[in-house]
Amino acid sequence: MDIKTLQNKINSYPRTPLACLPTPFAPIPNFAKLFGRDNIYIKRDDQTGLAFGGNKARKLEFIMADALNKKADVIITWGGVQSNWCRQVAAAAKKVGIKARLVLFQKPQFPKTVDGNLFLDKLFAATTDVFEVDANTKTFLYKDIRFIIKAIAEKEIAAGHTPYIAPVGGSLLEGDLDKPLGAISYVNAFLELFLQAQQQNVKIDKLIVTTGSGSTHAGLLVAAKAISPQTKIIAMTVGDDKATMAQYAKDLAEATISELALDISITDDDIIIFDEFGGEGYGVLNQQTVAAIECLALTEGILTDPVYTGKALFGFIQLLKQRYFPKDDNIVFLHTGGTPALFAYKQQIIEYLT
Ligand SMILES: *Cc1c(COP(=O)(O)O)cnc(C)c1O
Repeated sequence: MDIKTLQNKINSYPRTPLACLPTPFAPIPNFAKLFGRDNIYIKRDDQTGLAFGGNKARKLEFIMADALNKKADVIITWGGVQSNWCRQVAAAAKKVGIKARLVLFQKPQFPKTVDGNLFLDKLFAATTDVFEVDANTKTFLYKDIRFIIKAIAEKEIAAGHTPYIAPVGGSLLEGDLDKPLGAISYVNAFLELFLQAQQQNVKIDKLIVTTGSGSTHAGLLVAAKAISPQTKIIAMTVGDDKATMAQYAKDLAEATISELALDISITDDDIIIFDEFGGEGYGVLNQQTVAAIECLALTEGILTDPVYTGKALFGFIQLLKQRYFPKDDNIVFLHTGGTPALFAYKQQIIEYLT
């Protein structure tokens, strides 16, 4: 399928304008030089604009439109206590004039301060319910917490409201999300990036992405396969293991291909995931992540975050050091946002600064 047809198809979905697009695409030569390269770029989806930006703004343009079409006046979702998704849901809800109810999970290792994303959730007047969970909890699946979400939804219904249950990260087909809209928004993001790169005469060989709930990765996989088969998507997980994330990516990619009626398929070879760089698990900060955050900050003046992009950046740096990438490869790091969490983790970050 050609780009125009794919774009038209995506543009036929209802959408609420929430993001500042296109986000910038630029080389990061000072960072690249550290590794003896001159062909590393960054795509700034941390600059999508909605309440400090991040990848969830793109997803919410489609998902909020779906919620409004279903006549919802309250959106219910969940995530970790420093969830970027929840913060952007809270902001998007205000923009469209509905309520947000957030179910937030607190692991013992998470920061306990009302700072970063949690602070912003409160500023956006979202209702927040915080639940303490076990130290080993990885991700927060709907099947495990359904009873909590359902109880909240029933309360809202009893009070005369119409809830829309949105899955964590805007990814899996759970709750009221019955189309892979999160992934579709990232098919669109890839088209945007592809055209920007083309304008700068850059053919993208590798695209590095942070994966958490899977739909960003899935959307990129589908779009690359459809319009730029030479581009390999390399995902760094920050929570679940490789096998789990590969299954999410595959299922969401297949749902997206069928929803968009594309004539392609995603094979196991297309799904490249590293799960060895996430450290001690979702939301648990370590020194290596802080060193990676410093590396980009001190060369390019660009901030990454302690939960997602700092960890992916650490993985990317390891691959660069191991000479994983052929010399002529053009590599793009997709910055998916998350920077408000820096403030919640500042105490630990300061301890680890080199
Ligand atoms: C949610 C998030 C991701 C992961 O995106 P998914 O689509 O959930 O896999 C990556 N980076 C940041 C900063 C995020 O908030």
